[in-house]
Amino acid sequence: MMDFPLTLNVILRRAETIHACREVVTHRSDGSWHRYGYADMARRARQLAVALAKLGVSSGDRVATICWNHYAHLETYFGVPCSGGVLHTINPRLHADDLVHILTEAEDRVLIIDDTLLPVLERIGERVSLEHIIVVTSDGNVPAGMLDYDALIDATDATGYEFPELEESQAAAMCYTSGTTGRPKGVLYSHRAIVVHTLGSALASAIGIQEADAILPVVPMFHVNAWGLPFTCAMMGSKLVLPGRHLDSESLLQAFEQERVTISAGVPTIWIPLLDKLNECEGKYDLSALHSLIVGGSAAPRSLMEELEKRHNIRLVHAWGMTETTPLGTVAMLRPGQETLDEDQQYAVRLRQGHPVPFVEIRARGEAGIVPWDGKTMGELEVRGPWIAGAYYKRPDAADRFTSDGWFRTGDIVTIEPGGSMKIEDRSKDLIKSGGEWISSIDLENAIMSHPAVTEAAVIAIPDAKWTERPLAVVVVREGQSVSAEAISRHLETKVAKWWIPELFEFVEEIPKTATGKFQKTALRKQFAEGR
Ligand code: AMP
Repeated sequence: MMDFPLTLNVILRRAETIHACREVVTHRSDGSWHRYGYADMARRARQLAVALAKLGVSSGDRVATICWNHYAHLETYFGVPCSGGVLHTINPRLHADDLVHILTEAEDRVLIIDDTLLPVLERIGERVSLEHIIVVTSDGNVPAGMLDYDALIDATDATGYEFPELEESQAAAMCYTSGTTGRPKGVLYSHRAIVVHTLGSALASAIGIQEADAILPVVPMFHVNAWGLPFTCAMMGSKLVLPGRHLDSESLLQAFEQERVTISAGVPTIWIPLLDKLNECEGKYDLSALHSLIVGGSAAPRSLMEELEKRHNIRLVHAWGMTETTPLGTVAMLRPGQETLDEDQQYAVRLRQGHPVPFVEIRARGEAGIVPWDGKTMGELEVRGPWIAGAYYKRPDAADRFTSDGWFRTGDIVTIEPGGSMKIEDRSKDLIKSGGEWISSIDLENAIMSHPAVTEAAVIAIPDAKWTERPLAVVVVREGQSVSAEAISRHLETKVAKWWIPELFEFVEEIPKTATGKFQKTALRKQFAEGR
């Protein structure tokens, strides 16, 4: 057989030739709609590649983006990696210190940023050295010293330019994961990993994407490549509907109706208010084209699945993945024979995190080694496969997340049923997932404990209807001193991202500890979180 490299260039060539006129539709920040075909996208991706080369970007260089989901961001998804660069998508919600850390560690040379996200740059000020900042605007207004994205593309002649032939093992993109203590860790995706993930996630037993679909990724393009959907749509030729910054339920429902969206994807905190809105204005939107909402990032509640399906005839598909897994790992679906299960049993199957998609292998390790697939014994989930990270970028200190026999340790505590359906029972770390984003309880505790009147602080997650989880801080005040929740919140404003600041504080005499002197969070959860 031919030694044919699996690179994004092959996907782009296909999109340009086979799916030339299939549409990419963007809801722009000024409210207008932008439309073009994949051939236009590919042409502009080439212009971007030439423009970046003129700015001094060469093979292997990192180009960062801080952008919502829109056509220019899609052009960077192909223009940067197909010319040999590495696309570094950055989450604008990170704390300034983390932004500085990742921009510095990744040594990003160029940043492409939305005009509406420029305040993110103001937060980090002069603390990073970027050679060029390119701004995506809807009105052509660009701050002095920065370049206008559209003007740059329009002024670039890419006639005759061909993307180079690349090695499939070459890095195409990178994304940082927050989620553990300390600084976010980088994951570098190879061309091969993304291509094989693209094939795998299009399968009917995964997300099931066809050319006739119209797909709206609500999941941001800065979060694990919007679950790979932009690549999958380009390969399959599905219409891609990009919501820009219009992520409120009403805008999404309007976009679903207007663009005849068939599949959308997002975290539970997107679908919960969307369901409320649907209930509120039943019959207002024609969603007859919409057949599936993919949900992942945190566990989907049954009420969400049941109500969307019974009341609005919209199927919710539960999937699991991580930044380190590109991200699709497992999908929960009824298998042949399970249609005869009763309703409760069917929901139970579909609310698990599900079966690994082809080429992803799973196992779980308990204290006594690999646990049996009995649906009862818990262990930490380990995964391997062609799109699972084999290391973190420049982080030899995190080598313990990979086993000596080549599996990635996820940190999720799971049970696995006979037949391979996985369920997350708990997290090995005590992270808080708020609005689809991680809050590190330890970082937050340290920030609270940096207040002079606080001696001890432990943070636990409490369920929250809007954000899935929010932090609750349990605080011990230094003897002879007093401090209010408001004063701690004000103190935190300078230490952590705004959305990390807990709304709830409990003041206690003492925090229960484990034998090794760690905060006993199980006890705190029992006391403060259970039943909320
Ligand atoms: P991230 O790397 O930010 O995408 O976060 C990955 C983590 O999110 C996983 O390790 C899980 O703990 C959690 N997660 C992702 N999908 C699900 C899901 N369907 N149910 C429960 N937790 C999930």
